[in-house]
Amino acid sequence: MTASQHPTTAEELRGAGLRVTAARVALLETVRHGDHLGIEAITTGVRARVGHVSLQAVYEALHALTAAGLVRRIEPAGRSPRFEGRVGDNHHHVVCRSCGVVADVDCAVGEAPCLTPSDNHGFSIGEAEVVYWGLCPACSTAHSSEHP
Ligand SMILES: [Zn+2]
Ligand SMILES: [Zn+2]
Repeated sequence: MTASQHPTTAEELRGAGLRVTAARVALLETVRHGDHLGIEAITTGVRARVGHVSLQAVYEALHALTAAGLVRRIEPAGRSPRFEGRVGDNHHHVVCRSCGVVADVDCAVGEAPCLTPSDNHGFSIGEAEVVYWGLCPACSTAHSSEHP
């Protein structure tokens, strides 16, 4: 018995109740191999894998995979949305104010941390979103050499 065998991307789509299409498989692989990609970069990656796919098909696949929980959409305020394949752990992000680069921030404790606010106002909390804003190392280096 090979218990540790990983399902293929197509099997994961099927397991999430989705119809398997070449565009969806390519999109999930693109998002997982990328690092918080925007729609343009995802479209480029999908087309590199399966040839021409319409922008509409990319949006449709992103919507389906996000709704199924295979892809997570993050929307830093005032920035275009980014997509990632790291889902289910409620991790946070740090965003560079200057160039917009996004990096993952793990919480120190727990599987899905930060779900215990000081006052939940009677809500049943399912997700918490924390965005740290600052300057990435490249931008803060550039910034400090501009203003010595
Ligand atoms: Zn930066
Ligand atoms: Zn992330």
